[in-house]
Amino acid sequence: MGIVRLLDAQTIDKIAAGEVVERPSSVVKELLENSIDSGANVITVEIKNGGIDYIRVTDNGSGIDRSDVKTAFLRHATSKIKSAEDLVSVLSLGFRGEALSSISAVSKVELLTKTKTDVCGLRYVIEGSREMAFEDAGVPDGTTIIVKNLFFNVPVRRKFLKTAMTEGSYISEIMEHIMLSHPEISFKYIINGNVKLQTKGDGDVKAVIYELYGRDVMSLMIPVEYKDDNIHIHGYVGKPEMARSNHNYEIYFVNNRVIKSTLINRAIDEAYKAYLMLHKYPYAILYFDIPSDMIDVNVHPTKMEVRFLEADRFYNAIVECIKSALSHKELIWDVSNEKSIDKPIRTVSEDINPEPFEVKHLEDVKKEYEIKKAEPIIISNDHETSIPDILEFEETEIEESKFEQINFLSEEARKRHVLIGQLFDTYWLVEFDGNFYIIDQHAAHEKIRYERLVSKYRNDVNDSQMISPPIIITLSLQEENVLKSYTDEFKKAGFEIEHFGGNEYALYGVPSELYGLKEGDYFNELLDVLSTEKTHNDIDSILAHLASTSCKGAIKAGNKISLAEADALIDELLSLENPYNCPHGRPVIISLSKAELEKKFKRIL
Ligand code: ADP
Ligand code: MG
Repeated sequence: MGIVRLLDAQTIDKIAAGEVVERPSSVVKELLENSIDSGANVITVEIKNGGIDYIRVTDNGSGIDRSDVKTAFLRHATSKIKSAEDLVSVLSLGFRGEALSSISAVSKVELLTKTKTDVCGLRYVIEGSREMAFEDAGVPDGTTIIVKNLFFNVPVRRKFLKTAMTEGSYISEIMEHIMLSHPEISFKYIINGNVKLQTKGDGDVKAVIYELYGRDVMSLMIPVEYKDDNIHIHGYVGKPEMARSNHNYEIYFVNNRVIKSTLINRAIDEAYKAYLMLHKYPYAILYFDIPSDMIDVNVHPTKMEVRFLEADRFYNAIVECIKSALSHKELIWDVSNEKSIDKPIRTVSEDINPEPFEVKHLEDVKKEYEIKKAEPIIISNDHETSIPDILEFEETEIEESKFEQINFLSEEARKRHVLIGQLFDTYWLVEFDGNFYIIDQHAAHEKIRYERLVSKYRNDVNDSQMISPPIIITLSLQEENVLKSYTDEFKKAGFEIEHFGGNEYALYGVPSELYGLKEGDYFNELLDVLSTEKTHNDIDSILAHLASTSCKGAIKAGNKISLAEADALIDELLSLENPYNCPHGRPVIISLSKAELEKKFKRIL
């Protein structure tokens, strides 16, 4: 007897389901996308036990017509593709007409639906592709789909699921992304009976960021905007002070779909290079609108990869738009709230069946969350009535005001700075407008020297300091080659060099920032570094090396300098485009609010 036989339909569905339904979060994603496609503007997602036991998605969309219900659960059933031509345009968005059939093949599904024109709704139950009920039901307009016992009939897959906690966190991530990409839809997200996230659906991305990450993060976000003939970029990026240690808070949408892209990550890194220390990454919520013929989408049901045609242009556009957003903003590190910024309250954790060691953490998160929501209590022992400014913001007040703090660096503000003095021979203390600023003199001076050097170089200001008598340096063949290939750059930077005979060269002049340092030594060092570097056309690397040399001449921590010197230093620092970070990315200025001090002294709580 032959052994080749056709698989039955249920087995085929189960196999196909493996591709679409990997875990509870894939079910949520598919159901959410269907709800959004149905034109809904209010959507509720409820999960229990990480979505393994129970997932409910309710929308107020079009509903499914009675005559379409059974078909919708067949494989390759879709109302979104009618012909082969549609396929091309629609495939890029991930519609394959497989979600409902796949989900119902591996779980117990209950559908409640009603279209606006129908008088009575419908209840349809299908378990492991088997129809269990099809009957009239009194339900509101729209659709509810309940998915119970995922993989009840595929034990192997069920065994491979992670803990409810982890599966729940994948769902939460999808919720966050969908909420961010559809601020015009009001979402409610319920975990084990508790409402965890809720958005208004008023179209305001800022309000969504506020809901997801809390007030502190929201108040440190800067809007970005860029537009050319093809690309439109908008969204928000975080001030450098709330940098994270991984890329997880860089979330971006291409044509409203969340994607992963190393190109975009690299562009964000590049834009932040001057502001962040190594291995630190910013918050960034970015939206890209790009014509579909400029991208190549590789769809897989569970991930989204995009390649960009004209990738260089796209990359530059991102870098430019973020840089310009950062360069016109006050970026002084406010150390008052450092704790809460380090751990923004992410209301995403599962709170049922936590493993014993996780209980405490969950409790903490809950407590923190409660505190955040609570009204500020003021215990004033001197009958002050004013509410300190960091507590002043009301939930509703997350509009532009957050971006309009008085600029510490403006000329007008500078006149009102009160220079209090020097601390530990290193830090300068300035009072201004209810805040207390601390400036690191070494970082400040280093930054000034660096900026001077770079700007002279970029603006072709020849500012060399003559050395007399000249310094004679002896070069190896390799060093000589480097010198020749960089002749123009060296000249531009302020070096005056002439051939002296044989393998000897005379150094007549150096950039004035570097005058007085051991010229011969660092020039040799510079050639050394350049000759071992692979990229031989990178002026940035010359500047970087010159900059690190210039640091050696900067005022050190521990040097006592006069008030007048400090005043001049601050003047110059504040005239720089980016005075906030030294060339190595460390902060130059930090601030502490009066309110924070008052909190520390328990004048207020
Ligand atoms: P696809 O979304 O790729 O078309 P699905 O299997 O996800 O395939 O859904 C099949 C069809 O069922 C959809 O094309 C749509 O017509 C209908 N449908 C599914 N969910 C909903 C919903 N929440 N509201 C209205 N119609 C829906
Ligand atoms: Mg679908």
